[in-house]
Amino acid sequence: MIKYFKQIITELWSILKGMKITIKYFFAKPTTVQYPEERIQMTERFRGMVKADTDKCISCLYCVNICPVSCIDLEGEKSDAPAKVMNKEGKAMKRIKTVTKFDVNIAQCIQCGFCAEGCPTAAIYLSKEHENSALSREELIKHYAK
Ligand code: SF4
Ligand code: SF4
Repeated sequence: MIKYFKQIITELWSILKGMKITIKYFFAKPTTVQYPEERIQMTERFRGMVKADTDKCISCLYCVNICPVSCIDLEGEKSDAPAKVMNKEGKAMKRIKTVTKFDVNIAQCIQCGFCAEGCPTAAIYLSKEHENSALSREELIKHYAK
C-alpha cells in the first residue's frame, strides 16, 4: 500500500516538474518569428546566396578555379576598349575581357566563400539572401551576365 502511494507521489512530482518548464517557456520571450510575415536580421558574417556584379568582373577565372564544387560557369570576350575596374585595394585594373556568361548554380554552392575571398575586385560576393527555394533545378542557376 505504501509503495502504491509512493509511486503516485513520484508521478505527480514528475508531472509538476514538467509543468514548471512548460509554464516558464510559456511566459518567456519568444525566440522564433512568424515567418514569412516576420523576418530576422541576418548577422554581419552571414553567408547567403552568391551574387556577382559583372561590371566589376575582369574574367580572371580565379573564382571558377577555386570553387570546390565547380558551380560557377563563366565566359568572357576580349574587349576592344578595355574598361578600368577598381580592385579591393583601390587600384585601377584593366578589364580586358567583358563577361558574356556568369552563371552560378546555387543548388551546388556550399557557401564556402573561397570565391569571394580571393576575387581581386570583389565582383563576386556572398549576399544576405537565403530564400532560395525554387520549383525547378533550372531556376537555381542564377544568371548574372548582362
Ligand atoms: S574572381 Fe572575381 S574578377 Fe575573377 S572571374 Fe571571378 S568574379 Fe570575376
Ligand atoms: S561560395 Fe564556394 S561553393 Fe559557392 S560559388 Fe563560391 S567557391 Fe563555389
